[in-house]
Amino acid sequence: MGPGGQEPGGREPGGREPADPRGGRGTVLLIEDEEPIAELVTMYLERDGFRVVWRTDGPAGLAAVATERPRLVLLDLMLPGMDGFEVTRALRAGAERVPLIIVTARDEEVDRVLGLELGADDYVTKPFSPRELAARVKAVLRRVEPAPAASAAMRLGELTVDPGRREVTMAGRPVQLTAREFDLLAYLVRNRGLVLTRDQILEAVWGFRSHADTRTVDVHIRQVRAKLGDDAPIRTVRGVGYAAADR
Ligand code: CA
Repeated sequence: MGPGGQEPGGREPGGREPADPRGGRGTVLLIEDEEPIAELVTMYLERDGFRVVWRTDGPAGLAAVATERPRLVLLDLMLPGMDGFEVTRALRAGAERVPLIIVTARDEEVDRVLGLELGADDYVTKPFSPRELAARVKAVLRRVEPAPAASAAMRLGELTVDPGRREVTMAGRPVQLTAREFDLLAYLVRNRGLVLTRDQILEAVWGFRSHADTRTVDVHIRQVRAKLGDDAPIRTVRGVGYAAADR
């Protein structure tokens, strides 16, 4: 637990947002068997205005999804008994698609990829900074619950993407993209900071799921990068996919 976590006053170190003890941002269900981690995560999320419901194993967590109606689930993969992958499968077998972030103890690509393929929206690797975790929770919620102003222009560093006008500029210079390239870039920027798998990108931008054609994504990413130039804010995440991120 870092010293920053102990500050009184109910404000983030940055001091922008006051804590909301009423949990006005909704409920996050935390499924985690390690109490110190659960306490730390709870403290940070409550500080950000979430109500946190904590369960220590898969079956209790799944039961709480039904009773607590969480806005998001934060799931540890390494749980006693039913592990996080099984919990993810069970969650995704249901009709409702609750936003899900998995927490992996090991920085193993296979865990991350399997988790995302099973339907997790994002992952965090232990040890993580609680502030990063809180930021990812908010990023996933932004993505799955788009704001009413979804057509407003988006900025990322020197890049501006305007979905309403379908215009892109880089450092003020207009960039001509094909319709597909535009949709791809807009999807990445709308989900900035999140790692997106090629399958997720295919499904969102091309409108179907095809394991055979994930190379199409690579080809289009290359074209978009070439048009945006050296400062293109698109990061390759090896073995997983891509993320829009300012340098
Ligand atoms: Ca664990």
